[in-house]
Amino acid sequence: MASTPTKFLNIRQMIIPPGRKNRPGKHLNVAGVTIHNTDNASKGADAHAHAKFVATTGYYMLNGQQHWISWHYTVDDQEIWQSLPSDEIGWHAGPGNSKTIGIEICMNVGIDQTAANERAAALAAGLLHDYNLGVDSLYTHHKWTGKRCPVLLLNGSEEGSKWLEFKNLVEEELADLAGRELVILRKKPRYLPQEYSREDETIEIGDDWEIPEIFLTKSDMVSSAVMYDDLYMNSDVIDAVHEVYADFGHRGYNLHSNFTNNFNFDKHLVKASNPPYTMCVSSQFEIILKAIIMYCDRTRDPKAYSYLSDREMFGLNGMTLQNCVWENEGCHSVGKALSLFGMGEIVDFSQLSPGSFISYDHPHGGHSVCFIGYLDAKANIVQGYGKDVVGFRFFSSNGSGSSGDGLSYRNGVLTGRQMDQGAFKQATGIHNMRCGMMYSPENWKREKLEYYLFSQQRIFAGVAPTPPSGQP
Ligand SMILES: [Zn+2]
Repeated sequence: MASTPTKFLNIRQMIIPPGRKNRPGKHLNVAGVTIHNTDNASKGADAHAHAKFVATTGYYMLNGQQHWISWHYTVDDQEIWQSLPSDEIGWHAGPGNSKTIGIEICMNVGIDQTAANERAAALAAGLLHDYNLGVDSLYTHHKWTGKRCPVLLLNGSEEGSKWLEFKNLVEEELADLAGRELVILRKKPRYLPQEYSREDETIEIGDDWEIPEIFLTKSDMVSSAVMYDDLYMNSDVIDAVHEVYADFGHRGYNLHSNFTNNFNFDKHLVKASNPPYTMCVSSQFEIILKAIIMYCDRTRDPKAYSYLSDREMFGLNGMTLQNCVWENEGCHSVGKALSLFGMGEIVDFSQLSPGSFISYDHPHGGHSVCFIGYLDAKANIVQGYGKDVVGFRFFSSNGSGSSGDGLSYRNGVLTGRQMDQGAFKQATGIHNMRCGMMYSPENWKREKLEYYLFSQQRIFAGVAPTPPSGQP
């Protein structure tokens, strides 16, 4: 399992929206991992159910009071759900909160407990490895507060042979990982001075960021900080947005022109039809391609280039990603296109992080854009979707052929909401939003694409699609 640990682990994400009470947003200097059991033996109390609980409710009532809780990963015998970025503090272990990542192991009726424990051990080992920590940095919840947790790994109310056995499992996994670069995380962990708040971080985040223009304000950065989730492509997408904007911003729009410039996508030359003019969906496709290029450069791993053949990637005829991103062939959004190709998922508007994609309708037509952040009525970027949100900032290409139009950031206002007339261009009356997020390449699912291609072929052949055996 050590050769393909992320695949074995099967990590999925439902990150608690920023701004919710159980997501304080404080940086965690990871000094260990704390293991819990969910204490919930109910049927269906699996990892997904717990992830949903912390992302949507997030508290339990005790003596008439709300007690907000959160942790990083929930593990069952099939999969892992991540609820917090691993470098943000959660509320699960008293004094252990400010030092450790929390892992909850499920114990619902019918679970294969051995499989769940093994998966949790592999996850813990991967995290310890990535943070350059040893097995001595593995803790029980009991160690921090005296609570009888993880109940299945304690002997009575104390740590004993069961815990030792689990710890040995982690130690073995950890030894297997020696020499590997990052196993779970996408970026090298950062250790910040204590008392370092997110407010401070937004000032120094320029270390990692190209800031092309003053338009990206400090509050944009606050919102942007939620992108560092391990399993999505958002941070590379935003990097690509910044690059495309820096090179080709405000250079004019043309409905029939694609791509700002000629560029190489691995061995394939992507040719611009009328540079630097571009229209909205082709600008989103360009961002997707450039994000993949950045990912391959950053990880020094070219595998992502060969996930799709040239014939599946490029061209506007038949079943290509480009065709679907263009919203042809009944594909109604960039998010849907990514989902069909196993490269992303459709998400709700309330769940977006910077670097997500939105296709929407407005009174004069439709538009495809990259999401930058939620906006309140004063056009300030706010963390997370809530009552105060009246729209969003996006990046795309629109306007006319004159310079000043073309690729840029704009503010979108939802139907029925109002934004103060600010200094910036607005698009109003936005409705029917279709949203999606792109997975980072290690999570792309070729099986899903195979199924899509299979059913498309059946449709072309005039046969109703039925799944091949074993497919979803
Ligand atoms: Zn616990």
